[in-house]
Amino acid sequence: KEVARKIPATLIPGDGIGPEIVDVVERVFDALGNPFIWEKHQAGLNALEKSGDLLPESTLDSIRRTGLALKGPLTTPIGGGFRSVNVRLREAFQLYANVRPARTIIPGGRYDKIDLVLIRENLEGLYVGHEHYVPIDGDPHAVAMATGINTRAGSRRIAKFAFDYAVRNSRKKVTIVHKANVLKALTGLFLETAKQVSADYAGQIETNERIVDACAMQLVLNPWQFDVIVSTNLFGDILSDQIAGLVGGLGMAPGANIGEHAAIFEAVHGSAPDIAGQGKANPSALLLAGALMLEHKDMYAEAQWLRSAIDSVLSTEEGRTHDLGGSVSTSLFGDMVIDRIRG
Ligand code: NAD
Repeated sequence: KEVARKIPATLIPGDGIGPEIVDVVERVFDALGNPFIWEKHQAGLNALEKSGDLLPESTLDSIRRTGLALKGPLTTPIGGGFRSVNVRLREAFQLYANVRPARTIIPGGRYDKIDLVLIRENLEGLYVGHEHYVPIDGDPHAVAMATGINTRAGSRRIAKFAFDYAVRNSRKKVTIVHKANVLKALTGLFLETAKQVSADYAGQIETNERIVDACAMQLVLNPWQFDVIVSTNLFGDILSDQIAGLVGGLGMAPGANIGEHAAIFEAVHGSAPDIAGQGKANPSALLLAGALMLEHKDMYAEAQWLRSAIDSVLSTEEGRTHDLGGSVSTSLFGDMVIDRIRG
């Protein structure tokens, strides 16, 4: 099947299981009619070994050109003072929105029929990294201090992104999550600005607000009340892993990092060095990240097509990879998804 649009995109195989799962992605997207023209570039430990840089300039140039990337997991070497490549990419391309959907794929877990999306501000808040110690009485680390920074412009940008995302994806409700009762300035500004933005969507998208601790409890008691959640950097980080837990953990979770000029899609899991090269990796998370990428480029039908194929394979006993208690290999899993797509 041919799709009309062929969009240049950067493809980063990454480290560990990265090349194995990226190989499946390439074959599956081929079966989908090649909606993207891949430019393959390296990043991570393999790039460091080949070119001396975890994030080579040629990779950055490619993303600057395409504004779109699908990234396999990267290993950040421990020690040696290396900065995380993911953080470098986020800063280099000002990827202000982190999108983390959680959807029940394999029924029968603790929670059925979960379908919610967390949108996290990715550049501000308490993660700006302004930290220092104050020495007292000869103890250099007697006091630790951190500064959080939220701006009206940054809060408006993420809130607008969340409401636009809700409209584009036929969602009904956005919940603004904050701690404005205690962090009155830092998250009060976020809450006030997000509420102002919500007024532009009145009648179209329902809005409510929750204090972060109450939200965490409600996510456990009754997660079905949520649809889209928008929050600041730190709270969003914590809640996005919590919602992944509702649907069986990080193993099958996709994520997107979106800016005004570039968007990078990835699996939430890491490079899994313990199973690399053994054909045991589950490629679902990266394939689902590919589905998010299709939606980002308004190819909703193709995204749905891909998701249905993955769901259909995972709903069978023989379609389960090792992490799900089955024994199908990475490559065979890919073949099964392709069979479903070709119908
Ligand atoms: P990990 O996610 O790589 O592995 C945790 C466990 O989950 C392992 O037992 C692994 O085998 C399993 N697992 C992960 N993905 C799987 C998949 N697709 N299929 C089957 N099993 C899977 O986390 P870790 O061991 O803490 O980190 C390993 C490396 O990955 C580190 O260098 C870390 O820095 C990096 N990392 C990268 C990213 C990223 O690039 N987005 C994210 C997290 C960790």
